[in-house]
Amino acid sequence: METCNKCNKNSSVYFREYSGEKLCKRCFLNSIERKVQRTINKFSMIKFGDHVAVATSGGKDSLVLLSILKSTIDVSRGITISAITIDEGIAGYRDESLKIVSEFCSKLGVQLTVLSYNELFGTHMDEAMKVRPSAKLTSCSICGTFRRRAIDLAAEQLGANVVATAHNLDDEIQTFMINLLSGDVNRIGWNQASSIYKTGYMKKIKPLSETYEREIVFYALQKGIPFQSEQCPYMNESIREEIRQFLNDLEKAHPGIKYNTYKSIMDISALIRNRGDPAIMRRACEKCGRESTEQICSVCRIQERLKPLG
Ligand code: SF4
Ligand code: ZN
Ligand code: ZN
Repeated sequence: METCNKCNKNSSVYFREYSGEKLCKRCFLNSIERKVQRTINKFSMIKFGDHVAVATSGGKDSLVLLSILKSTIDVSRGITISAITIDEGIAGYRDESLKIVSEFCSKLGVQLTVLSYNELFGTHMDEAMKVRPSAKLTSCSICGTFRRRAIDLAAEQLGANVVATAHNLDDEIQTFMINLLSGDVNRIGWNQASSIYKTGYMKKIKPLSETYEREIVFYALQKGIPFQSEQCPYMNESIREEIRQFLNDLEKAHPGIKYNTYKSIMDISALIRNRGDPAIMRRACEKCGRESTEQICSVCRIQERLKPLG
């Protein structure tokens, strides 16, 4: 076993291919915590007195995020950390994660709020999959749209002013490619590590957005953080998995390529956001009154399409 080339003392457990570092457990864990802190500081994500609601699905990313925030945020700065879990209503899938999240939150001493699609939108994923007009309205487009709204509503209920989601660097590239491949250029402008909205809107932050997914998994394993193993039964409808595989193959052949891609995406995203196209200006949805880029917001449009005909 080779020696860690950070502390030059302990045996290394992790080889970081893109930098050539060989790290022991302690140096690896420190490196991830410092990276997340750097991302938080770079974008001034959290400030004195904030109430941060962490969207916690029970997957490795969200539990790692919750754990790092809880252990590194200075409570003397008056910052509160809470957790939100959204129950999509997917039988056999959500039950396992709800148990993991609630046990993990009790262990960390974090308040958990659970809201379901059923109570918020009058339907849930298993039902939506049966009544949707066609398979072109994919599971993840229904679920993702509802989830974003549900997280906002839960955070408002809690009195939080910041929502932290656990999107990692791989997720950000995948999302960019999905939007690129589907011709949705405006959405590319939404890709940012930290949203800076006008007063009155919830701030959205992604403290893991500069960290590789692979390193988050390794962090969770090294720390003994439990995470959901069950996969969503509807995930295969998304092109995301194919893109994930493609990016992993590229990274294997060219270590560091994901990070370069991520940096390019952030620049492209800022250019699109700053071009002032009225199509990406936000206004109030005519049905529910919430912020939208269209006359009717995506949640109201999906709800309409899920109504049984006649
Ligand atoms: Fe929802 Fe898609 Fe995630 Fe399943 S894979 S929980 S359908 S977003
Ligand atoms: Zn070391
Ligand atoms: Zn609406």
